Amino acid sequence: QVVTRFAPSPTGYLHIGGARTALFNWLYARGRGGKFLLRIEDTDRARSTPEATAAILKGLTWLGLDWDGDAVSQFERAGRHAQVALEMLTTGHAYKCFATQDEIAAFREEAKAAGKSTLYRSPWRDAAPESHPDAPYVVRLKAPREGATVIKDQVQGDVTWKNDQLDDMVLLRSDGTPTYMLAVVVDDHDMGVTHVIRGDDHLANAARQMQIYAAMGWSLPVYAHIPLIHGPDGKKLSKRHGALGVEEYQAMGYPAAAVRNYLARLGWSHGDDEFFNDEQAKEWFGFDGIGKSPARFDFKKLENLSGQHIGVADDAALLQELEAFLVATDAPALTDAQKSGLALAMPYLKTGTKSFGQLLDKAYFVLGSRPFEPDEKASKSLDNVSRGILTELTPHLQNASWTRDALEAAVGEFAEARGLKLGKLAQPLRAALAGRTATPSVFDMMLVIGRDETIARLTDAQA
Ligand code: GLU
Repeated sequence: QVVTRFAPSPTGYLHIGGARTALFNWLYARGRGGKFLLRIEDTDRARSTPEATAAILKGLTWLGLDWDGDAVSQFERAGRHAQVALEMLTTGHAYKCFATQDEIAAFREEAKAAGKSTLYRSPWRDAAPESHPDAPYVVRLKAPREGATVIKDQVQGDVTWKNDQLDDMVLLRSDGTPTYMLAVVVDDHDMGVTHVIRGDDHLANAARQMQIYAAMGWSLPVYAHIPLIHGPDGKKLSKRHGALGVEEYQAMGYPAAAVRNYLARLGWSHGDDEFFNDEQAKEWFGFDGIGKSPARFDFKKLENLSGQHIGVADDAALLQELEAFLVATDAPALTDAQKSGLALAMPYLKTGTKSFGQLLDKAYFVLGSRPFEPDEKASKSLDNVSRGILTELTPHLQNASWTRDALEAAVGEFAEARGLKLGKLAQPLRAALAGRTATPSVFDMMLVIGRDETIARLTDAQA
């Protein structure tokens, strides 16, 4: 069974790069009937905060990336990590190193002066236990010095590290706490992780982590190190170009499904497919579609996908997500009347709409109430002439039956008789019905609000 994991360090919000890593792991597991686990790498006590952990969980939840079981705290597993280090001491794959910081610094300086490698070579590596002083020590891995460590990476191909270029990494610090390198390996092993999918900034760590697997005789996970996300300028992603927390994408009014779709395409592709749903993504996602060069963040594309996802979304689900958007942006909640208005209007609101903000603007005709104060643009289309035309039109609507065909016919015939272009008539109608000019079609609006309300708004506008 495939087991993947997302292992964020809780030192800040869930940023877009982390969200993509989580998504790739989620897709890979979910597409194969596997498990997707979550581990909070909170060993750096100075930088880890409970607020950051909460923000990460919230971000993942909003994105719809559900994980199996409880989130694992790495810090809470420190005892187990130490136990593994001690086991390696017993098997001779690790050793106690009593070198002081000063000694290590001196070693490096000497090596540098002699033009030699400054990789620390501890004199304690082969020291007999009888010679051990009663002094603080760290536990170091007795790493191989000959040969090479080859990462068989699913994205990067074979990446080779010569073993003589890696030092004997510290596994346990002198205070008995595990290092990050040890903790990751022990946790991935114990959690049964089969595939490690993460940013390629961790590629060098993989070589070191593999040495720990080898020392413990554990089977290696499959590695896939994905290129980082860059800005449209090809440089490291900046805040201005999208390096934001996922909650900011929610606040920008993009539905989670669209953000998932967009993030999936960020560094991964499936032929020419741009717009797809979760089922398709789960079925298609694999390492062969991951590119080797950094993906570039592109807001336009995200916005475009957002429009498409809003367009095909289920009306009730959309309303629910809209309500969550209002909560997330600290906007007032919808009244029951507004909700039923929205439910009726949703089929007309969702087409050609790129964000929840835009949807709310368009929905003003059901969210607002009489009298509708026209905004500046709407005011302009309600000049005296237009108001006169509305006065003439009103009785025709009063007598029409309230179906789309009948309304279109009534307005069409009126326009023809008065020698008016339909567009000319539509603008003041929009302004009267909604107080806005960016609205669904006038017929959509009339059908949603009904005859009495339509006539009342037209009458208001003529006053
Ligand atoms: N905690 C690491 C990070 O947030 C991830 C480690 C890993 O995926 O192995 O970058």
